[in-house]
Amino acid sequence: MKKNYLFLFIIFGLLLSSCGTKEKVAERPKAVNVIYMIGDGMALPQVFGTMLATGEELAFSQFPYIGVVDTRSASNDITDSAAGGTALACDKKTKNGMVGMDVDTLPMPTILDVLADEGKATGIVVTCYAGHATPADFFAKVPKRSMYEDIAMQMAESDKLNVMIGGGRKHFNQRKDSLDLIQRMENELGWKVYDTLADIDTACTKYAVLAADGHMPIASERGNFLPEGVKTALKTLSQDKDGFFLMVEGSQIDFACHAHDSVYMVDETVDFSNAVQVALDFAKADGNTLVVVTADHETGGLTMIDPKGHYSNVSFNYSTGSHTCLPVMIYAYGPGAELFTGWMQNNEVKGKILKACGIEPQTVANDSEQTIAPVVGNFDSNPSN
Ligand SMILES: [Zn+2]
Repeated sequence: MKKNYLFLFIIFGLLLSSCGTKEKVAERPKAVNVIYMIGDGMALPQVFGTMLATGEELAFSQFPYIGVVDTRSASNDITDSAAGGTALACDKKTKNGMVGMDVDTLPMPTILDVLADEGKATGIVVTCYAGHATPADFFAKVPKRSMYEDIAMQMAESDKLNVMIGGGRKHFNQRKDSLDLIQRMENELGWKVYDTLADIDTACTKYAVLAADGHMPIASERGNFLPEGVKTALKTLSQDKDGFFLMVEGSQIDFACHAHDSVYMVDETVDFSNAVQVALDFAKADGNTLVVVTADHETGGLTMIDPKGHYSNVSFNYSTGSHTCLPVMIYAYGPGAELFTGWMQNNEVKGKILKACGIEPQTVANDSEQTIAPVVGNFDSNPSN
């Protein structure tokens, strides 16, 4: 009898100690670096349509965790890029047209703001204006997306942003207030400002590449600007011991779908996929980097159909010149990637990224149900961009 008790005691002890070990093993590694990538207007039709058109896999199919994002804004079932990007950057949905502000025009801390305050280096790489809605959603707070010169001023004066790569130079040096903001950035605000990626002094830790007066040229004319921009930003930001946050936008997938230009759409989606591949390769080698890829909304109402109703001869079909409320995909790789599965609201992504980084979200709003516009009787929304 005694022997049996001893035996049970030993087994119980072993079980306890093995539970303890399991808990240690299960402790989730935290993301040190975050690369947050947004394909503007890129829902599943744009991704799969590009795979069909090129006959090739894109970087998106390599992600182990995939979810679905409801993109509706606080004011409209169909979001514009300003409200869509604000919800992706902040904790609350807002009204169409607003940048970094809630429905009451109160400024909200973005994921870039929070991670900069944690000591991380930050950067943005886009192919549109540096101050266009989606990038602006991460660093600016203005009630209207068209306030480009105010957005440029907020970017110049930001003490949280280290690297900005994109276009929109005219909002800095051809301003209504006649201010040469580029000169001020270099003389007073600690920036180096370049015209091209090739000019960058890699030892510099605060710089802007404003490579076009307006948006960057289309994919077929701008070469590898986006993937190379991501590589350049990663080289700079990865020098920071506390980690980094990099936001990347494939800005012109949206432009192509507004124009119903399928060649342009495919080129832009391939270009964005190439940039995603740069991020994935970095994350795979690094081991501490979370890569999250999603979209602010779908553009064009794109489907792949056989116009004759047969099941072959597939071609692209656009049902609107504007955006739609089709939910978008979210793809994740790296520490915390498992958080990005299932069905989620766009304003939940910031909290998930912070959780992946082991940072307590400050003000995660659980009021998304209240702030979504009701579906019935609200189908006439017509956002312009
Ligand atoms: Zn658009």
